[in-house]
Amino acid sequence: MLVRKSQFRTEWALLLGCLLTLGSVIAIALVDERQGLEIRERERLATQARVINDNLGRQLEATSRALTSIRDDVPFWLRQKDGMAEASRQLRAFTDAMPGVRSMLILDAQGTVLAASRPVLMGQNFSQRDYFQQVLRQPDVDTLYVAPPFTTSLGIWAINLVRMIPGPKGEFAGLVSATLDPDEFKIVLDSVRYAPDMWTAMAHGDGLQFVMVPEHAGQPGKNVARPGTFFSRHMAEGQVSDVMTGTVYATGEYRMMAQHTVQPAALHMNKPLVVAVARDMEAIFAEWRRDVWRQGGLFLLLLLIAVPGLHLLQRRRRAAAQAEQAAALALRAKNAELEAVNAQLTAQSELLQSLAFVDGLTGVANRRRFDEMLEVEWRRCRRESQPLSLLMIDIDYFKAFNDCYGHQAGDVCLRAVATCLREAPGRAPDLLARYGGEEFVYLLPETDGAGAQAKAASLCRAVTALAIPHERSACGPCVTVSIGLAVAWPGTGFSAQDLLAAADAALYSAKSAGRNRIAGPSAVALSEGGSV
Ligand code: GH3
Ligand code: MG
Ligand code: MG
Repeated sequence: MLVRKSQFRTEWALLLGCLLTLGSVIAIALVDERQGLEIRERERLATQARVINDNLGRQLEATSRALTSIRDDVPFWLRQKDGMAEASRQLRAFTDAMPGVRSMLILDAQGTVLAASRPVLMGQNFSQRDYFQQVLRQPDVDTLYVAPPFTTSLGIWAINLVRMIPGPKGEFAGLVSATLDPDEFKIVLDSVRYAPDMWTAMAHGDGLQFVMVPEHAGQPGKNVARPGTFFSRHMAEGQVSDVMTGTVYATGEYRMMAQHTVQPAALHMNKPLVVAVARDMEAIFAEWRRDVWRQGGLFLLLLLIAVPGLHLLQRRRRAAAQAEQAAALALRAKNAELEAVNAQLTAQSELLQSLAFVDGLTGVANRRRFDEMLEVEWRRCRRESQPLSLLMIDIDYFKAFNDCYGHQAGDVCLRAVATCLREAPGRAPDLLARYGGEEFVYLLPETDGAGAQAKAASLCRAVTALAIPHERSACGPCVTVSIGLAVAWPGTGFSAQDLLAAADAALYSAKSAGRNRIAGPSAVALSEGGSV
């Protein structure tokens, strides 16, 4: 049972180890997949932001070249009589040629429109506009001024690019400006979107966001230059491009956003433009999340099958083992029971057998036993060429004993004589048996006549020594025995019965001679070399 327990524990350890390994492999693969997905998405967004940058950069350069070209022509037009009318035609021609430019203006040092691509603007004064004030405050002939975005009279967000017109001494003598059409930006910003959740936006370097595609109500005009916003962090880092993840200040969404500063070095822009390309984090990882659910679900399923499965299997095996053990115990008990019955039967059989061979009154071998042993020993002594002696012992005047002391006292006397005869010293194969009534026989294998005579004499003495009173005996005051002795060297032509008859005849002689004595040995079947 102990072995089984440790085996069960090993199986659990193996299963849990396998599940743990599999779980780790799945988790690592999913984490890797997520990281790969994030890296790829960052690269894609950064690429899209760079595409906008390249496109916008070219448009800014074209516009800048146009502004520089116009500025260079201003002194010439001022000297001409209808120079400003010519300038306005030129501005119109530029505006028509460049789809990204909505209108162009030339202002004098007081902010009055000298020439315009649209006649309605002629003669107006824009000295209070931010872009005029900015150039007035910090006049620099090389700078391309990027004015803060503003809403046009039509409510559309626009942005002005401005170059200063220098006077003869390089002083501020007016400016030339181009208003960029936000719709043109939208085409570019829309073209880089590759997912429905994606939006792109553009902000002025000061933080005013003025375009977003697709359009989000309330987004244009939002100032994103707030502490901690993606825009502020991007500007503070001073990197041309970067990618960040987190909550977008302007929309409140959780997004990944690539930002790119648009500021071609050759243009000497006083402020950059910043483009942003953003994707919803949920959408980026939607497929990955489905993968997590799928693989997690499969793993959970495996767990739900494997753990109860092993538990059930072990329970069945345990029950089977217990049943097996119970069956083994039952079998063992049955075997023990059978063995006990067997032992009992053997004991009974042995008892029966011994009872069959024992004389009930005296406890020595009975006549049957004697007959068997006489044959056995006769054959053995013949085989081994050994002598076989026989004593026939009879209690003297026993009838008279019974008559005098009673039959019961006679039984007691019989038992005492039998015990005395049996306990007399002898050899292992010697056999004492009750032959009948008050007669006993002593079978003495491998014993010659001399040995038998010595044995007979000692038996006579032993019985007399019992000193059982016998007042009716003619031999003396106590019980005595007479012994007929015969000896044989068993050979062919003679039988054990002959030996028995010889002993009986010897006994008869002893009785006739006066009792309390030994007669014999008479010899039977003397073989060559044998002696009596
Ligand atoms: P002998 O000296 O010539 O042998 O004379 P005996 O009286 O001993 O011989 P007998 O053959 O005349 O008598 C034998 C007696 O032994 C007869 C019988 O009453 C007695 N006897 C035989 N078997 C038993 C027994 O089992 N118990 C008792 N108490 N007496 C027995
Ligand atoms: Mg007798
Ligand atoms: Mg007798």
